[in-house]
Amino acid sequence: MLQITKGYHSITPLEEQEMDVLLSLVETRILMNPVIQALRSEGGAPQSNYQDDCQRAFPLLDEVEISRMAFVNILRRGAALPPISTSGPDTVDGMLERRKRVMGKKLYMFYDRPLHLVKGEGVWLKASDGKTYLDCYNNVPHVGHCHPYVIGAIDRQMRQLNTNTRYLSEQSIAYAERLTATLDKSLTAVIYVNSGSEANDIAWRMAKAWTGHSGGLAMDFAYHGVTDAVDPFSPSNDMANWNFPHMRVITPPDDYRGPFKRGDNNIAQRYADLADAPITDLAQSPCGVAAAMVDSAFMSNGMLDVPNGYLAAVVGKIRAAGGLFIADEVQSGFGRMGTALWGHQHHGVVPDFVTIGKPAGNGHPIGVLITRPEILDHFIKTAPFFSTFGGNNVSCAAGIAVLDIIRDENLVENCKTTGAYLKARLLELKNKFDLIGDVRGVGLALGVELVRDRRTLDPATAEAKRLVNLVREQGVLLGSEGVLGNILKIRPPAVLQPAHADIAVAALEQAFLKMDRMI
Ligand code: PMP
Repeated sequence: MLQITKGYHSITPLEEQEMDVLLSLVETRILMNPVIQALRSEGGAPQSNYQDDCQRAFPLLDEVEISRMAFVNILRRGAALPPISTSGPDTVDGMLERRKRVMGKKLYMFYDRPLHLVKGEGVWLKASDGKTYLDCYNNVPHVGHCHPYVIGAIDRQMRQLNTNTRYLSEQSIAYAERLTATLDKSLTAVIYVNSGSEANDIAWRMAKAWTGHSGGLAMDFAYHGVTDAVDPFSPSNDMANWNFPHMRVITPPDDYRGPFKRGDNNIAQRYADLADAPITDLAQSPCGVAAAMVDSAFMSNGMLDVPNGYLAAVVGKIRAAGGLFIADEVQSGFGRMGTALWGHQHHGVVPDFVTIGKPAGNGHPIGVLITRPEILDHFIKTAPFFSTFGGNNVSCAAGIAVLDIIRDENLVENCKTTGAYLKARLLELKNKFDLIGDVRGVGLALGVELVRDRRTLDPATAEAKRLVNLVREQGVLLGSEGVLGNILKIRPPAVLQPAHADIAVAALEQAFLKMDRMI
């Protein structure tokens, strides 16, 4: 059966639904044979051997020792389809046990009771408990979970060719052209990697090579990735033990909890001036200033409302000290902030490096670094660079598809309008619940800071954790964020519509009401 199916499939590809009914069709055909034969003999036709074969095959089908499902799976193998699991889906507890055995006991997961997701579509996620959740958290599926255009692009390219940038490929050149066309004209040199961490890692290496310095600056409680070089740029990885002689942190412009408050005079300059001390200190150290790395959405700092002109002022200071600026667009890119395609454009800054990850491939892993050609040329003179998977045809096809969809579905504009609508609705909630101290953020990167006391700003950290779980019970997924863990993080796919925003706000309202009853 396997060989016959394989042979048939090689000429006339079988679809999955066809495979699933194939066994029943074979049985039906075998059953029909004696009936057809009987009808024919009534009309005087001679008996055929075929008839005997069928009659012999009939009981054999019953005798086959493997289960029906295993039989179907053999047929599926013939059509290059994966087997259907013969055991039912595991329970959440069962999976948790298995996961602990093979993935360690401590790896952090969302929710008190972990969620086993089984299907995504647009802004919706289906879980193994049969419930459908509104995704207000995930930015990787930027154009929506399982977008058919991205699936089509990946599928088509995977069937055609997937190789690396040691060969010429239309997809890698076209994607680089598409990306650079969206950036300042100085940024034309593209390097492909596989993740945001890698993009930042290589940007940092290039910054050191170009400046001859080895000191770096990051925002306090920033996150930029996992590699050995990027970990020092990520104080949020381990705040208590963060101490690197070549690094300094800058106080983020938190206009709610920081030293200068929203509405204060000249707040952009006053926050920017807080960067003077760490920059000067680093410049005077043996390391010197190689680069500063900043996430334009200030996501790990709790989706800050960054004062106009702040980032440009800080970048000016970095450059005056001889350093370069790495704009980490892993979170803020692809229109999330609603005002521009890139976060640094929102802040009116031209970076030396742009690093891209997460949403670029809508779930397909892609990392990209874009810089000035002279910086790239200088770097590869001393260190040849090649990443096996970086820039492969399939990833680039996915990346191009994402850019197409952002353009065709007007997603930058959608982040702006739906984001503004959602923010306004969240501000209404603030009037109803004292626990909400602040609502902030731009585009579809919004934060709701919870405080026990609006005057002292006593952080409601445990409450935030509880709320995230309660909102999940209401069928909506969001997260918590910030150095104190007391900020609700709302960062949905960029295709979120106002009607979805209403669902999210209604779920939040129910969750806040439940919290009130618990307190
Ligand atoms: N930079 C920022 C701002 C991020 O948020 C992240 C991931 N959360 C990274 C870099 C690292 O990206 P990756 O996980 O793809 O390595």
